[in-house]
Amino acid sequence: MDITFSSDDLKFRDEVRLFFANAAPEASQQLINNPGTYKQGVIQWQKKLFAQGWVAPFWPREHGGAGWSATQSYIYECERVIAQAPDVVPFGLKMVGPVIYTYGNSEQKARFLPGILNGSDWWCQGYSEPGAGSDLAALKTRADRDGDDYVVNGSKIWTTYAQYADWIFCLVRTDNSGKPQQGITFLLIDMKTPGITVSPIPSINGVDSLNEVHFENVRVPRSNRIGEEGQGWTYAKSLLAHERTAIARVADSKSRLDRLRKFASCELQGGRPMIQDEEFRARFTTIEAELMALEYMELRVLAAMASNRSPGAESSLLKIRGTEIQQALHELTIELAGLYGCMIADNDTSSADIGHSFGDQARKDFMYGRAATIFGGSNEIQKNIIAKRVLGL
Ligand SMILES: Cc1cc2nc3c(=O)[nH]c(=O)nc-3n(C[C@H](O)[C@H](O)[C@H](O)COP(=O)(O)OP(=O)(O)OC[C@H]3O[C@@H](n4cnc5c(N)ncnc54)[C@H](O)[C@@H]3O)c2cc1C
Repeated sequence: MDITFSSDDLKFRDEVRLFFANAAPEASQQLINNPGTYKQGVIQWQKKLFAQGWVAPFWPREHGGAGWSATQSYIYECERVIAQAPDVVPFGLKMVGPVIYTYGNSEQKARFLPGILNGSDWWCQGYSEPGAGSDLAALKTRADRDGDDYVVNGSKIWTTYAQYADWIFCLVRTDNSGKPQQGITFLLIDMKTPGITVSPIPSINGVDSLNEVHFENVRVPRSNRIGEEGQGWTYAKSLLAHERTAIARVADSKSRLDRLRKFASCELQGGRPMIQDEEFRARFTTIEAELMALEYMELRVLAAMASNRSPGAESSLLKIRGTEIQQALHELTIELAGLYGCMIADNDTSSADIGHSFGDQARKDFMYGRAATIFGGSNEIQKNIIAKRVLGL
């Protein structure tokens, strides 16, 4: 792939910069940082991107996407993190949207895609169950046919932001007779349907994002089924590849690395900035080199996606290295913060008032960051996929 910036690319970069300068992303980010106004901040930002026509870079133009090249997407992501602008929530735009425009019928496309693009519908992902995480095909939530409806019974777990969701896309079991993968169906379920309850699961970082979602005799019209009954596994797998690619978060790690460099230039030990400490530098530059290698891998995957090829097993490579680098960055940042990284700020006192300004956030990022090697399919499972599909073992 060619990633040299053409004069058109440079013009595009200026356009993106100007957009971020005028769109005031920090106002939305402030709302997002506050759990009470999180949803409002996300929607506000998504509406700005939608108005600009940039909310779905990879969607084909015919479905309302920006149809950007890999280079344009790369430029956008770099400028986004420099401007510290929010990312979009992935469940609608990066996960179920591509499934609907690829496998859905024309009524489903007309009904669901506009709400995903303009931010009026908030989606969540109902894949995992108490007995089905890594072994997702073991899922038991049942959907039995009754006239023109399915009747859904069972429970999903770890459902991120289900408390805000208007819709959930779910894998359900419609057949038990064959291989576990064969009896799975992909349903779109309105969260307002009677029989659905959402119960929160407290998180270690203090931000409530996780839930259990219970279904008791929930009636779902058959017209909300994507594709064929029993073919849900195929649709689910294509979605997972997009999810893993998004989890790599290379641009975000680059910006974290820059911030860490700045913090380490100010932090003194024995009168010398930490950035000059040999051990610290060795760890810092190792992460920097690994991140650079990951960036080129991501560019290859982005190029494939821009030519309408679905990211395959490469997305597992990206997921593993991306999340390992994220965790290495969190660890080095919290170590730099030292004891201040252990302080828990209350409403009146922020650790920003005492010691390092970055300590409180470093602790939250470190704690939530432990989940990155688990969600989207754990890294051990990604290694199994690579062993099978890349190395042919
Ligand atoms: C913060 C967070 C957000 C999430 N959000 C969502 C969401 O929105 N929607 C959703 O559907 N799910 C979500 N998940 C669930 C996530 O996809 C699962 O946690 C993940 O797939 C692992 O499943 P599990 O938790 O059941 O662990 P298990 O499958 O029980 O695995 C436990 C451990 O055993 C290892 N292991 C299991 N099988 C193998 C094997 N065959 N070979 C080697 N090692 C193995 C795993 O790697 C792991 O370390 C989220 C999880 C987290 C932590």
